[in-house]
Amino acid sequence: MWAAPYGTFALLAVLVADAPKWDLFIALGQYGISVIIGLLTLMGFYVLLVFFFARVSPTTFLKGISPAQLLAFSTSSSVATLPVTMERVEDHLGVEEEVSSFVLPIGATINMDGTTLYQAVAAVFIAQAFGIELDIQTQLGIIATATLASIGSAGVPGAGMVMLVIVLAQAGIPEAGLSFIFAIDRPLDMCRTTVNITGDATVSMLIAKSDNKLHLE
Ligand code: ASP
Repeated sequence: MWAAPYGTFALLAVLVADAPKWDLFIALGQYGISVIIGLLTLMGFYVLLVFFFARVSPTTFLKGISPAQLLAFSTSSSVATLPVTMERVEDHLGVEEEVSSFVLPIGATINMDGTTLYQAVAAVFIAQAFGIELDIQTQLGIIATATLASIGSAGVPGAGMVMLVIVLAQAGIPEAGLSFIFAIDRPLDMCRTTVNITGDATVSMLIAKSDNKLHLE
């Protein structure tokens, strides 16, 4: 076990050194950056929602939820982060337990906007790697199946990538393409899980506000 990281590094080093062209790595980098830009946009959208509808400032919201975000980032699991998300939302963002104990467990299982976004970008990337043209119908199909597949994904590391198979199959994209994105899936999983739990916290605050159950001094 101690030697495993060095072994993996050596295997990858050989692969990189033997690679005939850098194109694939550049493409992978662009794909990763696209996913991260999308996730940051989503995060900004949540902050705006909380600001306009729950009347909570971005700093208060981000400061309150950041320990849960850090845990989500390090574990890549919405479900493992759930107890901390609940604690932060109740004790630091003023959501009543009645709301958080209902909204957050459901959110951790079905509300995964970060995963939806990642699956859609990954499907388009793989299609482009195979030189497959995607017409508008197929693109709409990708949006619909990515939404459903993310609902079906478990809140555990790597689940979004497993469910991506469904999105690819529906769009007629070869599932073998998963091997392209496998190498950088973990860092992207860390980022999308952070967005997933922020989305859950956002929804719990909006519901608490609409129900007069948000008490933030
Ligand atoms: N790891 C993500 C989560 O727990 C699911 C995924 O793989 O996208 O929210």
